[in-house]
Amino acid sequence: MPTLGIDLGGTFARAAVVDGKGEILASAKVAVQDRKPQGVVETIAQAAEEAVKSSGVKVDGCGVGAAGQIHKDTGVISVAPNLGWRDVPLAAMLTKRLGFDVKVVNDLSAAAWGELHAGAGRGAHDILVVFVGSGVGSAIIADGRLVQGGGGVAGELGHIKVVPGGRLCGCGEHGCLEAYAGGHNLIAQTKELLASGGSRVLEQLTQDDPYTITPVTLETAAEAGDAKAKEIHARAAHFLAVAVANYVTVLNPSRLVLGGGVLTHCPGIKRLVLDGVQQWASRVSREGLLIADAELGDDSGIIGAALLVK
Ligand SMILES: [Zn+2]
Repeated sequence: MPTLGIDLGGTFARAAVVDGKGEILASAKVAVQDRKPQGVVETIAQAAEEAVKSSGVKVDGCGVGAAGQIHKDTGVISVAPNLGWRDVPLAAMLTKRLGFDVKVVNDLSAAAWGELHAGAGRGAHDILVVFVGSGVGSAIIADGRLVQGGGGVAGELGHIKVVPGGRLCGCGEHGCLEAYAGGHNLIAQTKELLASGGSRVLEQLTQDDPYTITPVTLETAAEAGDAKAKEIHARAAHFLAVAVANYVTVLNPSRLVLGGGVLTHCPGIKRLVLDGVQQWASRVSREGLLIADAELGDDSGIIGAALLVK
């Protein structure tokens, strides 16, 4: 029987009815207006009911991928920064509201599971998935199983420390990889540079539209030869490259799946990451390593969440 997959973000809850092969039969999207747990449960239920209704089929389970740290056995969200939540028993609340079993996992774990079964990871058993979007996320699949760790928070590559005591990260700690290389923080660093008056190139690039600054703005300034922009860009790419290369050395995946907005839209950063893996991952860990782009785009999490219920 098909299952429901939910992608819970800070602005939208998306629901899809997914068959056993990972095909989406129907989907729906509802804006998150009330961010309190009960309000979000209602938003998810509304999206789920719309998707099920338009699919015309019955479902027998639901998986939710949510950004945050989630307890693997209880489905309690310990911390969800984009919703401002702490210790919310989302799985239990949704099970009660929807009337069938609901499993809640980290959004990157869901995305990795989707890519494993229906995307760029098909046919492999040992996969590393690294997504660099607004944050830096990753998931590990070893021997066909999702590695969750003792507390369910394994694979938090974005929060390894690259500059102990350095920039403040969204997680509340200092010096994380994400604080230097995540999309939100690339934008923040670009704005700081612009505000300091230290980049003529950035001033020119943004003079028509000073509000639309993206990681691509930074990459464009860096490639135009702006020294300060280049410093921020190169530092982010270097930290990412070293982190991913070391990750490959430690885990020896047969496939490395790369995705997320920053890696998709900033080819300069992606090239430096790929070069870094070739240069710095140990030679033996690279033997037989295939590097692939994520294939399912925004749907990887929703498909993976639905398939994880099985
Ligand atoms: Zn962090």
